[in-house]
Amino acid sequence: MHREPLIMVCTCEIAGRVRGKGFPARELPSRLRKGVGWVPTNTMISAFGPIFSTPFGTTGDLILVPDPETEVNVDFGDDSAPEHFFLGDIRHLDGTPWSCCPRDFLRRALAALKAEAGLDLFAAFEHEFVYTGVEPAPGAPYSLDAYRRQGIFGEALVAALRTAGVEPDSFMPEYGARQYEITCDPALGLAAADRAVVLREITRATAHRLGHRAIFAPILDPNGVGNGVHVHFSFRDATGTPVTHDPAGPLGLSPIAARFTAGIMHHLPALCAITAPSTVSYIRMRPNRWAPTHATLADQDRAASVRVCPVLPGPDVARQFNLEYRCADAAASPYLTLGAIVWAGLDGIRKARALPEGDGAPLPATLADALDALEATPEAADWFGPTFLNTYLMHKTGELTSLSGLDEATQCDRYAATY
Ligand code: GLU
Ligand code: MG
Repeated sequence: MHREPLIMVCTCEIAGRVRGKGFPARELPSRLRKGVGWVPTNTMISAFGPIFSTPFGTTGDLILVPDPETEVNVDFGDDSAPEHFFLGDIRHLDGTPWSCCPRDFLRRALAALKAEAGLDLFAAFEHEFVYTGVEPAPGAPYSLDAYRRQGIFGEALVAALRTAGVEPDSFMPEYGARQYEITCDPALGLAAADRAVVLREITRATAHRLGHRAIFAPILDPNGVGNGVHVHFSFRDATGTPVTHDPAGPLGLSPIAARFTAGIMHHLPALCAITAPSTVSYIRMRPNRWAPTHATLADQDRAASVRVCPVLPGPDVARQFNLEYRCADAAASPYLTLGAIVWAGLDGIRKARALPEGDGAPLPATLADALDALEATPEAADWFGPTFLNTYLMHKTGELTSLSGLDEATQCDRYAATY
């Protein structure tokens, strides 16, 4: 069959799904300028497909403009169409950013952090997922057997990620049934979130080529363990010097990192509404699942909401030193997750917030509770802008309502089918 190459330009909006439009590859130069047509209501497309409600109706025109820095072109060498796509920004026709563009939400947060605190944020997203190409087996966690039984998936994934510009770091069988984990190297703020979007898609694409699925839903079985997204972050100053660590500081944090982290801790309930944005996210965050349950900051504790990660002794401790935000999952757009972390951290710097003492309050028990916390957070209107905040709350309220009355296992099935 004759074929003409296509390219897609994509965004990852409120539902955390990657959507966009394709065009003939030879049109790329003009598409880099004018993008593809997009509409405001697209951001109200729920995780499950339907638009439950929308503040935009059927009106309005926007453009989705590819960012040339984000090109992914992975040929799996099996005669399937290559994964050739760009990530982009949602703009008005005159090129100005649209108020509900998730990538711009993050970009604005990073620019404010730089302007007000002189900090560049580096981040890396760890992802857990279920690979359907293996059978569950007893005693499988971290086993060489579970590693072996995924066949060539891991090697194909690592090769594809490297081609896509996502520097893979590790691939492992995880604790849960059929669960694996893939990590990559850190990158500067916006690129780190782009990497997370690309990593999820390339993982799905690799599984798809092998006739299977990679499922990133927060939890598949209400009695099992969940798929977390752990966001590692650290800071450099304008000269590139790492500034997260101070051996004399609390848990080894520098004063500025302590204030940033205090902002996260202060806003954790509201942050959960953004970073753990599905109903089943709150099944994942229950005791004894290696997932956070309380608003705690701790050294090397995997039940903490924010964990200070271990470092190897030596001359580059300052460079290795990083924190890990553990209240996220892949129902959230990486742009919103990282943007929310940065906005909350910046609030901690602005208000010189102090790290909490004591055990920490329980995290919200449901998505509804988390959304209430977000709505009750005065700073959130400033982070999002009023239009985006109301749009976000309306989107998530519609999702909640669509699941009301369903038992936990059915809700898990719904999310497993989509993520
Ligand atoms: N699966 C756990 C989670 O949902 C994390 C396990 C780990 O620490 O790697 O966050
Ligand atoms: Mg893990």
